[in-house]
Amino acid sequence: MAERGMVEVMKKIRAFLISALFLVSALNLSGCSSEAKESFFAMNTFMNFTVCGENPEAALEKVKETVTELERLWSVTDSGSDIYKINHTAGQPVTVDERTAALISFALDMADKTEGTLNPAIYPVLKAWGFTTGENRIPSPEEISALLTLTDYEKVQFSGCTVTLPEGMMLDFGAVAKGYTGDILAEQLKAEGVSSALLDIGGNIQAVGARSDGEYWRVGLRDPFSDGILGTLQISDLAVVTSGNYERYFIGEDGKSYGHIIDPESGYPADNGLMSVTIMGKSGAYCDALSTALFVMGYDETVRYWLEARDFEMIIVCADGSVALTEGAKKLFISEGEYEITVLK
Ligand code: AMP
Ligand code: MG
Repeated sequence: MAERGMVEVMKKIRAFLISALFLVSALNLSGCSSEAKESFFAMNTFMNFTVCGENPEAALEKVKETVTELERLWSVTDSGSDIYKINHTAGQPVTVDERTAALISFALDMADKTEGTLNPAIYPVLKAWGFTTGENRIPSPEEISALLTLTDYEKVQFSGCTVTLPEGMMLDFGAVAKGYTGDILAEQLKAEGVSSALLDIGGNIQAVGARSDGEYWRVGLRDPFSDGILGTLQISDLAVVTSGNYERYFIGEDGKSYGHIIDPESGYPADNGLMSVTIMGKSGAYCDALSTALFVMGYDETVRYWLEARDFEMIIVCADGSVALTEGAKKLFISEGEYEITVLK
């Protein structure tokens, strides 16, 4: 068990180093007159913030305080959090903070829009696979079918700031909370008069404005097949969020790899020929919700979804090594390395 914990910690450190590496060019060349940078661990992930402006230390301190507040509200494991109360008082109405109510409302709305491929009620299944504790196992098909009956998000009763869950159901906003946090922090920074900042929230990128010298922020797009990058994204005032089952997974006793993003229809980790889905758009919450949902949908459905919505850009990396990206994403992306690229129009 200690060994597993150690492996988890090593994985987190490695992920942190990789994300830090990606941002090196942006951080070194930010061109700030005055700049504050900080890396810290919160919401079960590493965060890396760069804030430029008149008094960047104070602004950075304020957004860090907000992260702590949101973590207290949204942690699944902290017994004082809104989410914990909802999950452990099933059958009873629970009154939550306005920000929690807004998060729940957003996630349920996105669940509807994505036909339940984003499912904030998937937690009982996620738990059975051990992704909540790190003690992974392959549940039996019977166990999965029984647990799937507890994942109907339409049964969440929700009005104003009051939430009631049916007995046995549990909510988890791991697929949207980081992106949602990015939006809140970006708004807060702008209200503080900051017009240039780069927030890396466990790999979810939220850029406020451009670099203070007017250049784009440069962010590496992770190669899901290696520790390297597929290319660089040049962004300003934009969120970039990636989902993939290479990020957190375990190898089962059958030798197969099982990832942390669950297909809510089957109760098994999504395994549909996609390696990663990266979504870009103005709202971090929207990008975060979509990256998870579209990763579950698979290639054809993902492309169909984009063709209908067209209010975000995306880059899809397939298991055969090919890459598909929207026209808008192509304008932001400088590819490195050799792979087949399809441009979606
Ligand atoms: P992300 O990294 O944003 O794609 O979110 C993945 C996290 O969301 C997982 O670690 C789980 O906590 C949770 N999750 C897994 N599958 C789903 C799903 N289909 N819908 C909603 N949340 C999910
Ligand atoms: Mg997500």
